[in-house]
Amino acid sequence: STQDETFEFQVEAQQLLQLMIHSIYSNKDIFLRELVSNASDALDKLRLESLRDHEIQAAADTSDLHVQIESDTEQRTLTVRDNGIGMSRDDVVGLIGMIAKSGTKQFVQDLKEAKEAQDENASQELIGQFGVGFYSSFMVADKVSLVTRKAGESEGTRWESDGTGTYTIGTAEDAPQGTAVTLHLKPEDTEDSLFDYTSETKIKEIVKRYSDFITWPIKMAVPAKAEAKDDAESDDADAEDAAADEDVTVLETVNSMKALWARSQSEVTDEEYSEFYKHISHDWSDPLETIRIQAEGTFEYQSLLFIPSRAPMDLFMQERKRGVQLYVKRVFIMDDCEALMPEYLRFVKGVVDAQDLSLNVSRETLQQDRQIQMMQRRLVKKVLSTVKEMRTKNPERYDTFWSEFGKAVKEGLLSDFDNRDAILDIASFDTTHDPDKQTSLRDYVERMKEGQQHIYYLTGESRSVIENSPHMEAFRDKGYEVLLLTDQVDEVWAESAPEFDGKQFQSISKGQVDLDTEEEKEEVKAEREQREKEFAELLSWMTTALQDNVKEVRLSSRLTTSPACIVTDANDLPPALENMYRAMGQ
Ligand code: ADP
Ligand code: MG
Repeated sequence: STQDETFEFQVEAQQLLQLMIHSIYSNKDIFLRELVSNASDALDKLRLESLRDHEIQAAADTSDLHVQIESDTEQRTLTVRDNGIGMSRDDVVGLIGMIAKSGTKQFVQDLKEAKEAQDENASQELIGQFGVGFYSSFMVADKVSLVTRKAGESEGTRWESDGTGTYTIGTAEDAPQGTAVTLHLKPEDTEDSLFDYTSETKIKEIVKRYSDFITWPIKMAVPAKAEAKDDAESDDADAEDAAADEDVTVLETVNSMKALWARSQSEVTDEEYSEFYKHISHDWSDPLETIRIQAEGTFEYQSLLFIPSRAPMDLFMQERKRGVQLYVKRVFIMDDCEALMPEYLRFVKGVVDAQDLSLNVSRETLQQDRQIQMMQRRLVKKVLSTVKEMRTKNPERYDTFWSEFGKAVKEGLLSDFDNRDAILDIASFDTTHDPDKQTSLRDYVERMKEGQQHIYYLTGESRSVIENSPHMEAFRDKGYEVLLLTDQVDEVWAESAPEFDGKQFQSISKGQVDLDTEEEKEEVKAEREQREKEFAELLSWMTTALQDNVKEVRLSSRLTTSPACIVTDANDLPPALENMYRAMGQ
């Protein structure tokens, strides 16, 4: 065997560990949820890999996949063991020694600031939002050791750290397949029996509470005596053995393993839904909304979807993931199933369990599958209608939804034409009507002035930039409400000229906005022709002088206080798009 080697944690990981060691995170129990969740993921991975890869199937043992928890009251250790996929030495360095999550730097920075400001609520919230996974062990342990062997490989790896900057890695002889994480519990938690994580009752309680739905058995070593008492009559021989030797333990399965979506809705509590959501999303906060779908008939499936209460840090990053898992008849098939949720609803998490799919489906075949496409359509409709309902029934919750996810949802206006109306219907926009409140399009339409033909909008970098735009003047004068659109995506979808309630969207920066009623028009026309004649010479001189910068200089009747403004042709690209294309070198 080789000598142990010492490594340093990646800088962000070090900072995060420091914060965990000194954590005031109020609910320390969740460290066990995190370890069990990792163990369960490792079992899922092994099962999937062995289905796909015959070599792994031959080399790995998949006969009795389970999680096992062992505690030692004297040594004050707690071990969570699985016989799943395990990790190679390189995996350990990459996965445990580093945090690969996007947004880590920002998170650590924010957290440091919150600590410096002694804002406990903020740091709790940040920790919860980021979800620190394995590192949460250091909330309760002053030393953590991990022994792991990747399924199919012969050599195991031992990893150990006290969480202060470095860790050691060595070879582990005779390591069983999978991973065992052993926590050396901090002494301060002994005094308070609430925090005695070696106590059988406490462990069972935590597992029940947070991990009951895990589809693998979570077994716990309990003294055989207690077991024997229960079936003393049926199993006399065992009972005698147990009585003779105090140390004999048996394994008891602690979780029900029942899929939540297979239980009747009335039977499942909000807390159970929440914990399930946390397991599949790796989020530490409760979901904003839970959605259940039960489809019967020729293509039977159940779905349990969640809208998170916060946007993930990678919502707009390249390597973002979609959050719906596919199960077939209770068996986990794949994560991030892109065929089930369109890109613009990528933040929706959850599970779809189909009855009549092959266990060997691939991502490629799923994309083509007509039934999957129908399923996706139904899920999308349900998510959109849930948000619509939320808007009337729980406006506050809706506001959270829209401020977290609105920008992503609006992408759907460009990609999901079937649901364009539904998306517009759940959208909110800044408006000149109220400086502090966004508006729905329905409310906008209701406020439209007599004779107003269109839904007017202006796009720009920020609300104040748009409000100060000279384009606004005529509209302000007329008392016409204008939507103020500041997201980059607005520029694009609004250009695609959608309609809402039969009214077209019209940019007020376009040349041809027609603000006048029929009677006014004749007068105005005569007046304009007169003035154009007067200024013809000046205008043609200006057009020549500015020819490198503008197409044409025109007289305007739209300005009331500004001397001039620049407009785009009705058919020109909007300025932000022009900039975008220019930046891309087109
Ligand atoms: P997350 O689970 O959100 O990815 P964690 O900090 O909990 O983050 O775990 C980091 C990574 O370490 C996991 O993604 C996984 O690859 C690896 N890992 C952790 N525990 C185990 C385990 N019991 N078996 C195999 N791999 C594990
Ligand atoms: Mg985890």
